[in-house]
Amino acid sequence: MRMENSKGRKRVVILGATGSIGESALKVACDIPERMEIVGLAAKSNAQKLAEAANEVRPESVCLVDETRIDVLRRALDYQPRIFSGEVGLLEIACLTNADMVLVAIVGTAGLRPALAAIEAGKDLAVASKEILVMAGEIVMREARENSVHVLPVDSEHNAIFQCLESGRGLSAPKDRGTEAAPTFQSSDVRRIILTASGGPFRETPRKDFDSITPEQALKHPTWNMGPKITIDSATLFNKGLEMIEAHWLFGVEMDRVEVVIHPQSIVHSMVEFADGSTLAQLSYSNMRFPIQYAVTWPDRVPNTLPPLDFSKLSKLEFFTPRYDDFPAMNLARRAGETGGTLPAVMNAANEIAVAAFLNRQVRFPDIWRIVEEVMNRHAPVAHPDLDAILQADQWARNEAQGCVKSLNR
Ligand code: NAD
Ligand code: MG
Repeated sequence: MRMENSKGRKRVVILGATGSIGESALKVACDIPERMEIVGLAAKSNAQKLAEAANEVRPESVCLVDETRIDVLRRALDYQPRIFSGEVGLLEIACLTNADMVLVAIVGTAGLRPALAAIEAGKDLAVASKEILVMAGEIVMREARENSVHVLPVDSEHNAIFQCLESGRGLSAPKDRGTEAAPTFQSSDVRRIILTASGGPFRETPRKDFDSITPEQALKHPTWNMGPKITIDSATLFNKGLEMIEAHWLFGVEMDRVEVVIHPQSIVHSMVEFADGSTLAQLSYSNMRFPIQYAVTWPDRVPNTLPPLDFSKLSKLEFFTPRYDDFPAMNLARRAGETGGTLPAVMNAANEIAVAAFLNRQVRFPDIWRIVEEVMNRHAPVAHPDLDAILQADQWARNEAQGCVKSLNR
């Protein structure tokens, strides 16, 4: 059994420290230093930004995946932490002996192996990288159970659902932190999980105008400020599709009990409807520091400097049915989640390639859905795949999607 640090002070490694979630996590650490200590920071290639963050919070270890930039990192650091590099370094920093928790905030699927390594080393996981749960949710959650570690959701919707489940006693929370397995979901208490979606920048755009959408327009999110990949996913609503599958694995609930409602104000972060017809929701301003902090301090709540909701200034909260036919990502995700096996990994990988191609102006906005659907149609899913089968399907889907990009680009 793991020993916790002094009550409440979590020692955290951040993977993806230079990204949008990484930045928010650094702010949380500065805001509640008595509860969160950063012991490791890792990033892909932005040596300068990694060094600036490290100089500020002074973790004992840092990791830069891009080995060609290590000298830049060394020069920019004003103290001498232990330096890891390469993909191996990422695995090593995810398993630091003195860490309690690893925050996985790497965009895409590169966080999967370090997440599994952290679980095996007995670290709690705070997961922002929804792609790894879409790709390998069955394996991640099984490994977490077997190693008695907690998987705390950072994605705002899932953090909200987690809070609603706890409050509605849909979760049995451990009494003593660190001495029990991950909280278990009391499936029969819950009727529906309702994910909210802002609807993205094209919520009201007529379908006939989708062909002319530019990357610049798609990168302007109405309510959240995030990295480019998730911002495009929010515009296509693949983000919500990925989140449906993420919820399925995190909370062990069937896909047909996961629903989506459009809520343009992004104040209600998600809801849970219980068996008795009562619905609980979690509300706050849209700032990722809220869910990150709760993942770190859970099961405690501690004061911070974030502004609470001012209800006198919230003029309205609206809810609409999504335009499923115009934004087919959610139907594709439901199909992938219900089929299971390697299909979610294929959907996710094809989407990553299609998003990159759209940002490179190789394909048009609606081609993202077409490419993903085409690659999914070509795939023969493998049920209950092991990690190798998942990685193989991921690579296969990337190649197929590249082929689709080329043929559309001719
Ligand atoms: P971002 O693009 O701003 O940052 C990505 C981070 O990942 C960077 O620090 C980068 O160095 C690191 N990274 C990328 N490839 C890597 C690799 N191969 N090895 C190691 N590090 C690598 O992305 P973001 O918006 O912070 O999103 C990160 C994850 O969190 C995504 O999975 C996203 O879906 C999820 N998420 C983000 C938000 C948000 O508000 N930004 C909200 C919910 C969930
Ligand atoms: Mg989200």
